Amino acid sequence: MIIPKAGKLTKAQFKEVEGIVSEFNCTVLEIEGHNRCVYAILGDETQTLMFKRIAGLSYIRKVNKIESPYKLMDKRSALANHQIKIGERVIGQDKPFIIGGPCTIDPNSPSMFLETAHALKEAGVDALRGGVWKPRTNPYSYQGDNKAIEIILDAREQTKLPIDIEVMDSAQLKIALDAKVDILQVGTRNALNYSLLKEIGKTSVGTDSSVLLKRGRHVASPDEFIAAAEYLVAEGNPNVMLCPRGTTPVLDGYRNHPDESITPLLKNKTWAPVVVDPSHSVGHSQYVHACSLASIAYGADGLCIESHIDPAKGIGDDPKQAITPDKMKDLVLSCQQLWDSRYQS
Ligand code: PEP
Ligand code: MN
Repeated sequence: MIIPKAGKLTKAQFKEVEGIVSEFNCTVLEIEGHNRCVYAILGDETQTLMFKRIAGLSYIRKVNKIESPYKLMDKRSALANHQIKIGERVIGQDKPFIIGGPCTIDPNSPSMFLETAHALKEAGVDALRGGVWKPRTNPYSYQGDNKAIEIILDAREQTKLPIDIEVMDSAQLKIALDAKVDILQVGTRNALNYSLLKEIGKTSVGTDSSVLLKRGRHVASPDEFIAAAEYLVAEGNPNVMLCPRGTTPVLDGYRNHPDESITPLLKNKTWAPVVVDPSHSVGHSQYVHACSLASIAYGADGLCIESHIDPAKGIGDDPKQAITPDKMKDLVLSCQQLWDSRYQS
């Protein structure tokens, strides 16, 4: 990892560094943070001669060697102080970052989504979620509809809140990027789809789109989870958040095995923010509040919660696990109190 003295290498400096690393069969990648650029050497960066030659250049502040399977995501990387900005918020600062909205946008009822969006804004959420395309276990269940993107874009326009939608393939990714979607969600089923992760990382470089990477449901270990995120960052987009969402096998009575307790283990290893999804973890609206508080207590930076103005009329997971905007308001307040108490002790 190369850190220049100035905020960014000039074209000529980049070319010189590129020339050196290519002699050692490596390539160099610019990673643009909000305040500065860092440069990752891809390939065998442990070669001493290459290391010395780069470190000797007058415009280089330091070259870090990190022995880690995920050298960019590692807490010791030059990205350790990287901040992710979404809308008006810097993740991890001041209060929990809360994403709320229905599991699935009903394309036949735009007003239901818009009403939910306004009520959630009122309840204090920071971003809106809503499934446009859905990964469904049953191939005959509702799969999503391109029309739904217009509805969530309309909600962003009206509420001025950033939006989060899941993308599962290249065509959906293109539509989402063209629409300047603020948060691209990678669901649990694609959490280890490395080709998709690389494509998202590459095509989102230079955009304002961050990525919410869910944890693989088949018990991805902390290292496997963080290494999956490395695929995104290694293509040039450092704006990645990790999202535990419950794993299988299930804990009887819950939808999955709630895994918010992985939060401090992730935070010991990586700088990336952790945004827990309590809704899919527990799968029942009545347990979402407790799981949210547990997540914040464990050190989470935010939450992604399914919420609907009238859950019984929703589709997808909403009838079972969405909370109402009223409940969301209570939850936002209690999470804020717990967050504040984290910094008092
Ligand atoms: C969702 O967020 O609605 C969803 C399908 O999530 P997951 O990938 O965690 O199942
Ligand atoms: Mn859902």
